[in-house]
Amino acid sequence: MSFSSLGLSEPILRGVAAAGYDQPTDIQSRAIPKILAEQHLIGLGQTGSGKTAAFGLPMLDRLVGGEPGLRGLIIVPTRELCVQVAENLRNYAQFAGLHVCTAFGGIDLSIQESAFKRGLDVLVACPGRLIDHLERRNLTLDKVEMVVLDEADRMLDMGFMPQIRKIFIRMPRERQNLLFSATMPTEVESLVEDFLPGAERVQIGERSQAAKTISHRFVAMTIADKKDALERVLEREHGKVLVFVNKKINCEKLGNALKRDGLPADAIHGDKSAEARHACLQGFSRGKVRFLVATDVAARGIDVDDIDLVVNYDFPLGLEDYIHRSGRTGRAGRKGRALSLVAPSEKRLHAVVAAHLRGEKVKSVGRYPAGGGGRGGSRNGGGGKKPRRRLQRA
Ligand code: AMP
Repeated sequence: MSFSSLGLSEPILRGVAAAGYDQPTDIQSRAIPKILAEQHLIGLGQTGSGKTAAFGLPMLDRLVGGEPGLRGLIIVPTRELCVQVAENLRNYAQFAGLHVCTAFGGIDLSIQESAFKRGLDVLVACPGRLIDHLERRNLTLDKVEMVVLDEADRMLDMGFMPQIRKIFIRMPRERQNLLFSATMPTEVESLVEDFLPGAERVQIGERSQAAKTISHRFVAMTIADKKDALERVLEREHGKVLVFVNKKINCEKLGNALKRDGLPADAIHGDKSAEARHACLQGFSRGKVRFLVATDVAARGIDVDDIDLVVNYDFPLGLEDYIHRSGRTGRAGRKGRALSLVAPSEKRLHAVVAAHLRGEKVKSVGRYPAGGGGRGGSRNGGGGKKPRRRLQRA
Protein backbone atom coordinates (compact mmCIF):
# COMPACT_ATOMS: atom_id res chain seq x y z
CA MET A 1 0.00 0.00 0.00
CA SER A 2 1.17 3.55 -0.72
CA PHE A 3 0.45 6.85 1.03
CA SER A 4 -1.19 8.23 -2.11
CA SER A 5 -3.84 5.47 -2.05
CA LEU A 6 -4.95 6.61 1.43
CA GLY A 7 -6.61 9.74 0.06
CA LEU A 8 -4.14 12.36 1.33
CA SER A 9 -3.82 15.58 -0.66
CA GLU A 10 -0.79 16.61 -2.66
CA PRO A 11 0.94 19.04 -0.24
CA ILE A 12 0.69 16.46 2.55
CA LEU A 13 2.06 13.69 0.31
CA ARG A 14 5.04 15.92 -0.44
CA GLY A 15 5.60 16.29 3.31
CA VAL A 16 5.48 12.50 3.75
CA ALA A 17 8.03 12.09 0.97
CA ALA A 18 10.26 14.71 2.63
CA ALA A 19 10.04 12.73 5.90
CA GLY A 20 11.40 9.77 3.91
CA TYR A 21 8.46 7.41 4.46
CA ASP A 22 7.83 4.98 1.59
CA GLN A 23 4.93 2.99 2.91
CA PRO A 24 2.35 3.57 5.63
CA THR A 25 2.70 1.50 8.79
CA ASP A 26 -0.14 -0.75 9.91
CA ILE A 27 -1.78 1.87 12.14
CA GLN A 28 -1.37 4.53 9.44
CA SER A 29 -3.05 2.50 6.70
CA ARG A 30 -5.92 1.58 8.99
CA ALA A 31 -6.47 4.91 10.74
CA ILE A 32 -5.81 7.53 8.04
CA PRO A 33 -8.81 6.68 5.77
CA LYS A 34 -11.15 6.63 8.77
CA ILE A 35 -9.86 9.97 10.08
CA LEU A 36 -10.12 11.49 6.60
CA ALA A 37 -13.75 10.29 6.57
CA GLU A 38 -14.22 12.45 9.71
CA GLN A 39 -14.83 9.53 12.07
CA HIS A 40 -14.06 9.78 15.77
CA LEU A 41 -11.35 7.27 16.49
CA ILE A 42 -9.60 5.50 19.33
CA GLY A 43 -6.18 4.14 18.39
CA LEU A 44 -4.67 1.47 20.58
CA GLY A 45 -1.10 1.32 19.38
CA GLN A 46 2.30 0.06 20.44
CA THR A 47 5.16 2.46 20.98
CA GLY A 48 6.98 3.12 17.73
CA SER A 49 3.99 2.15 15.59
CA GLY A 50 3.99 5.43 13.68
CA LYS A 51 0.95 6.90 15.37
CA THR A 52 2.12 10.53 15.16
CA ALA A 53 1.75 10.43 11.39
CA ALA A 54 -1.43 8.32 11.74
CA PHE A 55 -3.19 11.28 13.36
CA GLY A 56 -0.93 14.12 12.16
CA LEU A 57 -1.26 13.56 8.41
CA PRO A 58 -5.07 13.48 8.24
CA MET A 59 -5.26 16.44 10.64
CA LEU A 60 -3.04 18.54 8.38
CA ASP A 61 -4.99 17.31 5.37
CA ARG A 62 -8.23 18.54 6.91
CA LEU A 63 -6.80 21.96 7.73
CA VAL A 64 -4.90 22.67 4.53
CA GLY A 65 -6.30 25.57 2.50
CA GLY A 66 -8.81 26.58 5.22
CA GLU A 67 -9.20 29.74 7.28
CA PRO A 68 -6.14 30.51 9.45
CA GLY A 69 -6.55 30.05 13.20
CA LEU A 70 -6.21 27.34 15.84
CA ARG A 71 -8.19 24.48 14.31
CA GLY A 72 -6.11 21.42 15.23
CA LEU A 73 -5.21 20.65 18.86
CA ILE A 74 -2.95 17.81 20.03
CA ILE A 75 -2.70 17.24 23.77
CA VAL A 76 0.34 15.30 24.99
CA PRO A 77 1.57 14.39 28.49
CA THR A 78 5.22 15.54 28.43
CA ARG A 79 7.36 18.40 27.15
CA GLU A 80 9.59 16.05 25.21
CA LEU A 81 6.69 14.47 23.42
CA CYS A 82 5.31 17.94 22.73
CA VAL A 83 8.55 19.03 21.04
CA GLN A 84 8.82 15.76 19.14
CA VAL A 85 5.25 15.65 17.85
CA ALA A 86 5.53 19.30 16.78
CA GLU A 87 8.82 18.61 14.97
CA ASN A 88 7.23 15.71 13.07
CA LEU A 89 4.16 17.77 12.18
CA ARG A 90 6.24 20.71 10.97
CA ASN A 91 8.09 18.31 8.76
CA TYR A 92 4.86 16.89 7.30
CA ALA A 93 3.32 20.40 7.00
CA GLN A 94 6.20 22.10 5.23
CA PHE A 95 4.39 22.30 1.85
CA ALA A 96 0.94 22.91 3.33
CA GLY A 97 1.39 26.50 4.57
CA LEU A 98 0.23 25.57 8.09
CA HIS A 99 1.77 26.84 11.32
CA VAL A 100 2.48 24.38 14.12
CA CYS A 101 3.12 25.82 17.61
CA THR A 102 3.90 24.28 20.98
CA ALA A 103 2.76 25.01 24.54
CA PHE A 104 4.66 23.33 27.37
CA GLY A 105 5.85 24.40 30.80
CA GLY A 106 9.35 25.42 31.83
CA ILE A 107 9.75 28.31 29.39
CA ASP A 108 8.31 31.80 29.38
CA LEU A 109 4.63 32.06 28.42
CA SER A 110 5.35 35.21 26.39
CA ILE A 111 7.74 33.34 24.05
CA GLN A 112 4.96 30.92 23.14
CA GLU A 113 2.41 33.75 22.93
CA SER A 114 4.58 35.61 20.39
CA ALA A 115 4.80 32.43 18.31
CA PHE A 116 0.98 32.12 18.35
CA LYS A 117 0.73 35.67 17.01
CA ARG A 118 3.00 34.84 14.08
CA GLY A 119 0.59 32.11 12.96
CA LEU A 120 -1.19 29.22 14.65
CA ASP A 121 -3.10 26.46 12.88
CA VAL A 122 -2.07 23.44 14.93
CA LEU A 123 -1.12 23.52 18.60
CA VAL A 124 0.73 20.70 20.33
CA ALA A 125 0.27 21.26 24.06
CA CYS A 126 0.73 19.85 27.53
CA PRO A 127 -2.48 20.21 29.56
CA GLY A 128 -1.22 22.50 32.36
CA ARG A 129 0.44 25.01 30.05
CA LEU A 130 -2.53 25.05 27.68
CA ILE A 131 -4.80 26.00 30.57
CA ASP A 132 -2.34 28.78 31.57
CA HIS A 133 -2.61 30.22 28.06
CA LEU A 134 -6.40 29.89 28.01
CA GLU A 135 -6.70 31.66 31.36
CA ARG A 136 -4.51 34.50 30.13
CA ARG A 137 -6.61 34.65 26.94
CA ASN A 138 -3.52 34.12 24.82
CA LEU A 139 -5.63 31.79 22.71
CA THR A 140 -9.13 30.36 22.47
CA LEU A 141 -10.34 26.94 21.43
CA ASP A 142 -13.48 28.30 19.69
CA LYS A 143 -12.37 27.24 16.21
CA VAL A 144 -10.96 23.80 17.04
CA GLU A 145 -12.20 21.29 14.47
CA MET A 146 -10.11 18.33 15.47
CA VAL A 147 -8.56 17.32 18.78
CA VAL A 148 -6.11 14.51 19.49
CA LEU A 149 -5.49 13.20 22.97
CA ASP A 150 -2.18 11.35 22.78
CA GLU A 151 -1.00 8.78 25.34
CA ALA A 152 -4.24 9.07 27.29
CA ASP A 153 -3.22 6.37 29.76
CA ARG A 154 -0.04 8.25 30.62
CA MET A 155 -2.06 11.45 31.12
CA LEU A 156 -4.08 9.54 33.66
CA ASP A 157 -0.94 8.26 35.43
CA MET A 158 0.32 11.83 35.63
CA GLY A 159 -2.94 13.10 37.15
CA PHE A 160 -4.01 15.22 34.16
CA MET A 161 -7.61 13.97 33.83
CA PRO A 162 -9.24 17.05 35.51
CA GLN A 163 -7.31 19.39 33.19
CA ILE A 164 -8.23 17.30 30.14
CA ARG A 165 -11.92 17.55 31.00
CA LYS A 166 -11.57 21.30 31.51
CA ILE A 167 -9.98 21.65 28.06
CA PHE A 168 -12.59 19.47 26.35
CA ILE A 169 -15.51 21.56 27.59
CA ARG A 170 -13.92 24.69 26.13
CA MET A 171 -14.03 23.38 22.58
CA PRO A 172 -16.95 23.58 20.15
CA ARG A 173 -19.29 20.56 20.30
CA GLU A 174 -18.94 19.99 16.57
CA ARG A 175 -15.44 18.61 16.23
CA GLN A 176 -13.60 15.43 15.41
CA ASN A 177 -12.07 13.59 18.37
CA LEU A 178 -9.15 11.19 18.33
CA LEU A 179 -7.68 9.40 21.31
CA PHE A 180 -4.52 7.31 21.40
CA SER A 181 -3.53 5.08 24.26
CA ALA A 182 -1.46 1.95 24.82
CA THR A 183 -4.01 0.70 27.39
CA MET A 184 -7.59 1.56 28.32
CA PRO A 185 -7.90 1.92 32.09
CA THR A 186 -11.39 2.60 33.48
CA GLU A 187 -10.88 6.36 33.78
CA VAL A 188 -9.86 6.59 30.13
CA GLU A 189 -12.96 4.54 29.17
CA SER A 190 -15.10 7.00 31.11
CA LEU A 191 -13.48 9.94 29.29
CA VAL A 192 -14.27 8.13 26.03
CA GLU A 193 -17.90 7.69 27.11
CA ASP A 194 -18.21 11.40 27.87
CA PHE A 195 -16.32 12.86 24.91
CA LEU A 196 -15.98 10.20 22.20
CA PRO A 197 -19.18 8.16 22.33
CA GLY A 198 -19.48 5.81 19.38
CA ALA A 199 -15.84 6.29 18.31
CA GLU A 200 -14.34 3.64 16.05
CA ARG A 201 -11.55 1.60 17.64
CA VAL A 202 -8.42 0.64 15.77
CA GLN A 203 -6.40 -2.03 17.51
CA ILE A 204 -2.86 -2.63 16.38
CA GLY A 205 -1.81 -6.22 17.02
CA GLU A 206 -2.52 -7.74 20.40
CA ARG A 207 -3.35 -5.36 23.19
CA SER A 208 -0.12 -4.05 24.73
CA GLN A 209 2.10 -6.73 23.34
CA ALA A 210 5.83 -6.48 23.56
CA ALA A 211 7.31 -6.08 20.05
CA LYS A 212 8.32 -9.39 18.48
CA THR A 213 11.69 -8.07 17.34
CA ILE A 214 12.99 -7.69 20.91
CA SER A 215 14.91 -10.33 22.87
CA HIS A 216 14.28 -10.29 26.62
CA ARG A 217 16.87 -11.33 29.21
CA PHE A 218 16.51 -11.39 32.98
CA VAL A 219 19.43 -11.70 35.38
CA ALA A 220 18.93 -12.28 39.10
CA MET A 221 21.15 -10.31 41.49
CA THR A 222 21.07 -8.29 44.68
CA ILE A 223 20.41 -4.57 44.60
CA ALA A 224 23.96 -3.96 45.88
CA ASP A 225 25.43 -5.75 42.85
CA LYS A 226 23.45 -3.86 40.24
CA LYS A 227 25.75 -0.90 39.66
CA ASP A 228 28.85 -3.00 38.97
CA ALA A 229 26.85 -5.38 36.79
CA LEU A 230 25.49 -2.45 34.79
CA GLU A 231 28.96 -1.00 34.26
CA ARG A 232 30.26 -4.35 33.03
CA VAL A 233 27.39 -4.51 30.54
CA LEU A 234 27.89 -0.91 29.36
CA GLU A 235 31.62 -1.36 28.87
CA ARG A 236 30.87 -4.04 26.26
CA GLU A 237 28.23 -2.01 24.40
CA HIS A 238 29.12 -0.05 21.28
CA GLY A 239 25.71 1.49 20.62
CA LYS A 240 23.06 3.41 22.54
CA VAL A 241 21.67 2.09 25.80
CA LEU A 242 18.67 3.41 27.70
CA VAL A 243 18.77 2.54 31.40
CA PHE A 244 15.53 2.74 33.38
CA VAL A 245 15.15 3.51 37.06
CA ASN A 246 11.92 4.04 39.00
CA LYS A 247 12.75 7.22 40.94
CA LYS A 248 14.02 10.63 39.88
CA ILE A 249 16.55 10.80 42.70
CA ASN A 250 18.08 7.44 41.77
CA CYS A 251 18.14 8.52 38.15
CA GLU A 252 20.32 11.51 38.94
CA LYS A 253 22.55 9.47 41.29
CA LEU A 254 23.11 6.65 38.84
CA GLY A 255 23.78 9.02 35.93
CA ASN A 256 26.37 10.85 38.03
CA ALA A 257 27.99 7.62 39.21
CA LEU A 258 28.37 6.35 35.63
CA LYS A 259 29.84 9.70 34.54
CA ARG A 260 32.28 9.65 37.46
CA ASP A 261 33.38 6.20 36.35
CA GLY A 262 34.24 7.61 32.93
CA LEU A 263 31.28 6.34 30.92
CA PRO A 264 29.58 8.57 28.28
CA ALA A 265 26.40 8.76 30.35
CA ASP A 266 23.73 11.27 31.35
CA ALA A 267 20.41 11.27 33.21
CA ILE A 268 16.98 12.60 32.23
CA HIS A 269 14.07 13.07 34.62
CA GLY A 270 11.27 15.47 35.46
CA ASP A 271 13.25 17.62 37.90
CA LYS A 272 15.60 18.85 35.18
CA SER A 273 14.75 22.07 33.37
CA ALA A 274 13.25 21.92 29.87
CA GLU A 275 16.55 23.20 28.45
CA ALA A 276 18.61 20.59 30.31
CA ARG A 277 16.30 17.82 29.15
CA HIS A 278 16.42 19.05 25.57
CA ALA A 279 20.24 19.17 25.65
CA CYS A 280 20.32 15.69 27.13
CA LEU A 281 18.02 14.29 24.41
CA GLN A 282 20.09 15.93 21.70
CA GLY A 283 23.29 14.47 23.14
CA PHE A 284 21.71 11.02 23.16
CA SER A 285 20.16 11.35 19.74
CA ARG A 286 23.49 12.42 18.22
CA GLY A 287 25.43 9.72 20.07
CA LYS A 288 27.56 12.07 22.17
CA VAL A 289 26.00 10.53 25.23
CA ARG A 290 25.51 6.82 24.54
CA PHE A 291 24.13 5.72 27.89
CA LEU A 292 21.04 7.54 29.11
CA VAL A 293 19.51 6.87 32.52
CA ALA A 294 15.81 7.76 32.55
CA THR A 295 12.59 7.56 34.50
CA ASP A 296 9.46 6.25 32.77
CA VAL A 297 7.84 9.65 32.39
CA ALA A 298 10.97 11.36 31.01
CA ALA A 299 11.56 8.48 28.62
CA ARG A 300 8.15 8.94 26.99
CA GLY A 301 9.54 11.72 24.88
CA ILE A 302 12.62 9.93 23.63
CA ASP A 303 12.21 9.43 19.90
CA VAL A 304 15.49 7.75 19.08
CA ASP A 305 15.24 4.83 16.69
CA ASP A 306 18.70 3.29 17.13
CA ILE A 307 18.68 2.23 20.77
CA ASP A 308 20.42 -1.17 20.90
CA LEU A 309 19.66 -2.11 24.44
CA VAL A 310 17.16 -1.18 27.14
CA VAL A 311 18.25 -2.00 30.69
CA ASN A 312 15.75 -2.24 33.53
CA TYR A 313 18.07 -1.29 36.38
CA ASP A 314 14.97 -1.12 38.56
CA PHE A 315 12.30 -3.55 37.48
CA PRO A 316 9.27 -1.66 36.13
CA LEU A 317 6.31 -1.41 38.48
CA GLY A 318 3.79 -2.82 36.05
CA LEU A 319 3.51 -4.88 32.88
CA GLU A 320 2.51 -1.90 30.76
CA ASP A 321 5.68 -0.09 31.84
CA TYR A 322 7.77 -3.12 30.93
CA ILE A 323 6.22 -3.10 27.47
CA HIS A 324 6.70 0.65 27.06
CA ARG A 325 10.31 0.48 28.20
CA SER A 326 11.30 -2.45 26.02
CA GLY A 327 9.47 -0.78 23.12
CA ARG A 328 12.19 1.88 23.13
CA THR A 329 14.46 -0.60 21.39
CA GLY A 330 13.55 -2.73 18.36
CA ARG A 331 11.71 0.22 16.78
CA ALA A 332 10.64 0.55 13.16
CA GLY A 333 11.21 -3.18 12.54
CA ARG A 334 14.80 -3.28 13.90
CA LYS A 335 16.06 -5.94 16.30
CA GLY A 336 16.42 -4.88 19.90
CA ARG A 337 17.42 -6.23 23.28
CA ALA A 338 16.00 -5.75 26.76
CA LEU A 339 17.96 -6.73 29.86
CA SER A 340 16.46 -6.66 33.34
CA LEU A 341 18.46 -6.81 36.55
CA VAL A 342 16.09 -8.58 38.95
CA ALA A 343 16.57 -8.22 42.71
CA PRO A 344 14.84 -10.69 45.06
CA SER A 345 12.21 -8.05 45.94
CA GLU A 346 11.36 -7.69 42.24
CA LYS A 347 10.76 -11.35 41.49
CA ARG A 348 6.97 -11.14 41.66
CA LEU A 349 6.89 -8.32 39.10
CA HIS A 350 9.26 -10.28 36.93
CA ALA A 351 6.99 -13.35 37.11
CA VAL A 352 4.13 -11.33 35.59
CA VAL A 353 6.31 -10.09 32.73
CA ALA A 354 7.74 -13.58 32.13
CA ALA A 355 4.20 -15.01 31.94
CA HIS A 356 3.21 -12.31 29.43
CA LEU A 357 6.25 -13.04 27.29
CA ARG A 358 5.40 -16.75 27.30
CA GLY A 359 2.07 -15.77 25.81
CA GLU A 360 0.00 -16.42 28.92
CA LYS A 361 -2.95 -14.14 29.57
CA VAL A 362 -2.03 -11.63 32.29
CA LYS A 363 -4.81 -9.45 33.60
CA SER A 364 -3.52 -5.96 33.99
CA VAL A 365 -5.14 -2.94 35.55
CA GLY A 366 -3.45 0.27 34.46
CA ARG A 367 0.17 0.18 35.47
CA TYR A 368 -0.30 -2.36 38.24
CA PRO A 369 -1.05 -5.92 37.17
CA ALA A 370 -3.56 -7.73 39.36
CA GLY A 371 -2.68 -11.39 39.80
CA GLY A 372 0.37 -13.13 38.47
CA GLY A 373 -1.05 -15.29 35.71
CA GLY A 374 2.15 -17.33 35.52
CA ARG A 375 3.93 -19.95 37.54
CA GLY A 376 6.47 -17.38 38.49
CA GLY A 377 9.52 -19.28 37.34
CA SER A 378 11.84 -18.47 34.48
CA ARG A 379 15.33 -19.09 33.25
CA ASN A 380 17.18 -16.68 35.45
CA GLY A 381 15.67 -14.42 38.00
CA GLY A 382 12.15 -15.78 38.21
CA GLY A 383 12.12 -17.65 41.48
CA GLY A 384 9.61 -20.46 41.81
CA LYS A 385 7.17 -18.95 44.27
CA LYS A 386 3.52 -18.42 43.55
CA PRO A 387 2.68 -14.82 42.81
CA ARG A 388 0.80 -13.13 45.62
CA ARG A 389 -2.82 -12.13 45.30
CA ARG A 390 -2.04 -8.59 44.21
CA LEU A 391 1.17 -6.91 43.29
CA GLN A 392 2.19 -4.00 45.41
CA ARG A 393 4.22 -1.00 44.30
CA ALA A 394 7.81 -2.12 44.74
P1 AMP B 1 5.85 7.18 16.36
O1 AMP B 1 5.17 5.89 16.77
O2 AMP B 1 4.91 8.16 15.74
O3 AMP B 1 6.67 7.76 17.49
O4 AMP B 1 6.90 6.81 15.20
C1 AMP B 1 8.01 5.99 15.42
C2 AMP B 1 9.12 6.23 14.40
O5 AMP B 1 8.74 5.71 13.12
C3 AMP B 1 9.42 7.71 14.17
O6 AMP B 1 10.82 7.87 14.10
C4 AMP B 1 8.80 8.03 12.82
O7 AMP B 1 9.49 9.06 12.15
C5 AMP B 1 8.93 6.70 12.10
N1 AMP B 1 7.86 6.46 11.10
C6 AMP B 1 6.55 6.78 11.23
N2 AMP B 1 5.86 6.42 10.13
C7 AMP B 1 6.75 5.84 9.29
C8 AMP B 1 6.65 5.25 7.98
N3 AMP B 1 5.48 5.16 7.35
N4 AMP B 1 7.78 4.79 7.42
C9 AMP B 1 8.97 4.87 8.08
N5 AMP B 1 9.14 5.39 9.30
C10 AMP B 1 8.04 5.88 9.91
